[in-house]
Amino acid sequence: MILSGQYSPPHPLGASAVLTVDRAAIVANWRDLCARHASGAVAAVVKADAYGLGAALVAPALHEAGCRHFFTAHLAEALALRPLIPGAMLAVLNGLGPEPAPEVIAAFVNHDIIPVIGRLAEISAFAAAATRLGRRLPLILHVDTGMARLGLDAAELDRLQQAPEWLRPLDLRFVMTHLVAAESADDPLNALQRQRFIAACARLPPAPRSLANSSGVFLGPAFASDLARTGAALYGINPVPHAAPGGINPMRLACRLSARVLQVRTVPAGSPVGYNATWRAARPSRIATLGIGYADGWPFRLAGLGQAFFDETPVPLVGRVSMDLTTCDITDHPGVGPGDWLELIGPHAPPERIAAELGTSPYEVLTGLGPRIARLPLANADAAQ
Ligand SMILES: *Cc1c(COP(=O)(O)O)cnc(C)c1O
Repeated sequence: MILSGQYSPPHPLGASAVLTVDRAAIVANWRDLCARHASGAVAAVVKADAYGLGAALVAPALHEAGCRHFFTAHLAEALALRPLIPGAMLAVLNGLGPEPAPEVIAAFVNHDIIPVIGRLAEISAFAAAATRLGRRLPLILHVDTGMARLGLDAAELDRLQQAPEWLRPLDLRFVMTHLVAAESADDPLNALQRQRFIAACARLPPAPRSLANSSGVFLGPAFASDLARTGAALYGINPVPHAAPGGINPMRLACRLSARVLQVRTVPAGSPVGYNATWRAARPSRIATLGIGYADGWPFRLAGLGQAFFDETPVPLVGRVSMDLTTCDITDHPGVGPGDWLELIGPHAPPERIAAELGTSPYEVLTGLGPRIARLPLANADAAQ
């Protein structure tokens, strides 16, 4: 990713906001995670369009690099990806859903997509389908060790242990659980969940195990398993945000959001800018209007908080963020003109910083980026700059 010099992404005709996706950085992050998780494989979690970066760009690059396990949250996401990653395991975290229709089960079976199941009713529906088809159908079993969202709870685990025939028509690929607070290495919940997971696995038929998410990989060998499930760290979100000193991010940020200056105008002192005149120029000012707004996932609440970057220097965002447009004060940046691209997310404005300004998580900042923003792979020529 380019660290200095004014950056102009290649862009499709008329585009005014571009997310440049650095696939080499994603592959490098995956390799780094593989080295840290030598006990087993490292799966790519590509739900929510690969955390906003574009699953159709990300998944084939990881597949080509050797990644053989992928997770989405929804069946529709998995169906779209299936042809792009032939032969790889592709699993759906949200499972079959409540009262799975025969068409839903058929879609899993016919497209070689594995449900993650954490409810007895779903196990029995899937087992019935397997019996009908005369074929052992693959599943991943999710046990709840503290998240209290999805997964078998203690009572369901008891019932399953007493009725092992439920799993007999099925092919148990992995038993998994999900950590609640892996980004806080000191949180006692980590060790508690690990103990509960080991105890749960002992009550189930023997199967490979899947434990860590991105941050879990950094909890050390006790949290290693047969399959880590990593999303955030692949894309460059810091998996160890509380690590001392200064929370240095071990991953490479793999995207850059750029928005284009559509117009520049000069306004006199006292003049308002944007809806409801929430900002007024304190001096004669030059205002640049960027072609990105809250309909693109550039948060409304960043009004008066955020910054864009021109080359290396911060440019304050001023006035309301509107649906399609955002305004910034370029009075101190005489070099900025129509057609220039300003960085909104990138090496100078990492998602963690924007998230901190908004009181949200960097995951939400990236996954919120909307479909109007063009996702473009960083060209090799760009990367060499
Ligand atoms: C989203 C998700 C992951 C990936 O988590 P990251 O923190 O992005 O690495 C792993 N497992 C489950 C069950 C998830 O829902």
